[in-house]
Amino acid sequence: MENYSACVNNQKAFFHKGETEDVDFRINSLKKLRTAIQQNENALVEALKVDLNKSEFEAYSTEIGVVLKEIRFVLKHLRKWVKPERVKTPITHFGSSSLIYPEPYGVALIIAPWNYPFQLAVAPLIGAIAAGNCAIIKPSELTPNTSDVLERLIKEIFTQDYIAIVQGDAKTSQALLHEKFNTLFFTGSAPVGKIVMEAAAKTLTPVTLELGGKSPCIVHEDANIKLAAKRIAWGKFMNAGQTCIAPDYVYVHGAIKDEFLDQLKKAMKALYGEDPLENADYTHIVNAKHFNRLCAFLDNGKLFSGGKTDQAHSAIEPTVLTDVNWEDPVMQDEIFGPVLPVLEYHDLPEAMEGIHNQPNPLALYLFSNSESVQQEVVNGIAFGGGCVNDTVYHFVSPYLPFGGIGKSGTGSYHGKGSFDTFSHQKSVLKQTTLFDIPFRYPNVKNGLKKMKLFLK
Ligand code: NAD
Repeated sequence: MENYSACVNNQKAFFHKGETEDVDFRINSLKKLRTAIQQNENALVEALKVDLNKSEFEAYSTEIGVVLKEIRFVLKHLRKWVKPERVKTPITHFGSSSLIYPEPYGVALIIAPWNYPFQLAVAPLIGAIAAGNCAIIKPSELTPNTSDVLERLIKEIFTQDYIAIVQGDAKTSQALLHEKFNTLFFTGSAPVGKIVMEAAAKTLTPVTLELGGKSPCIVHEDANIKLAAKRIAWGKFMNAGQTCIAPDYVYVHGAIKDEFLDQLKKAMKALYGEDPLENADYTHIVNAKHFNRLCAFLDNGKLFSGGKTDQAHSAIEPTVLTDVNWEDPVMQDEIFGPVLPVLEYHDLPEAMEGIHNQPNPLALYLFSNSESVQQEVVNGIAFGGGCVNDTVYHFVSPYLPFGGIGKSGTGSYHGKGSFDTFSHQKSVLKQTTLFDIPFRYPNVKNGLKKMKLFLK
């Protein structure tokens, strides 16, 4: 088995030198990272094109730009975040003061997936650096060109005992998980999430799991149908549906189903043209295994639109299926590709029950202009996060912590959320030595009586 003890121990030794405690050190590191990303922008765009046929527009808007914006946000707020927070002190603690110190965990392991191979490796790294940790990144082996650029970029700006990158497959990942880290941050599938959590349990290491699942999209009868169709087509088919928070399926109200499907077809055509497989900017499926897995869904229900494939390039047209039911294979697991089943409902409780029968989604999208419907859905279903009258957009707000619940993940990040995720909140009481309130001591006269006066 590969062995990473030396790498982890070197980072622990570096961490204990205390350099990462210094906020200026963290800020300089983030600035170095930003410059390196800017200088490697072309190389990243090219690598993402080779790995996934991502267009320059998608490469910038969903990978490079998102990360640069996150760094900018963190740089703006970091000096404030690192300060100990003074909180209230109860009367029982009269004479003392209370502070919460955000403290780095130490050495973090970041394991990343292939679908946004740059962004999902670097966004957690920003949080790890901001909070003052060292980190080892394990990028995905399925997007080797992007992982190579990332490795070169990281090695150019950071010493290995501060930020290291280890390339490899599941075996490498497991060898890393064998080591004692101070925190684990995993983005990927639920089955591998269980392996990561098991490893974390063995060493009692805090763990963040950013997983996936079937994210529903409800289009209610009072929705702005044209806009709903456009925003769903955008969120679903970007990156050819290989987005953890892509709408997995649509629940549309029966009264507007036909009009919605008509608008959806128009929106798909407007975004990707008459023949998306000929569109040079349309993302491909990551490999043959996933391509074949997705092709097997194309005969589920009834084909409404799309359905063409290009095996040589592992590409699948944006596809919409109707007359699908919960027993169909396409409804058994997260689709993670450009296939969109549309289910029909007749009243809101029916759609909500269908969703309740599934594990907690990572995202949920509701299209409705009714305040009461919005309240009913947002309060009535447990999901990681989502949007009302949009899809995916919540992901890119630094003010909204992003993460799942239950099977879709545990913990969250982005903006201050990333800083908090990579920090331990160390609570400290500073007691006075000027006097000593006697009630807590067992030998005080009428101690219990006085204790009962305070503690009730
Ligand atoms: P994956 O779980 O197969 O792989 C993720 C990482 O884990 C990779 O680096 C891989 O090398 C490693 N890995 C794979 N098998 C392993 C094993 N047996 N033991 C230890 N490590 C192992 O996921 P993926 O296919 O790369 O990504 C797709 C999944 O990720 C989807 O389920 C998607 O929803 C989810 N995802 C979630 C988010 C999020 O932010 N919540 C973002 C993107 C993707």
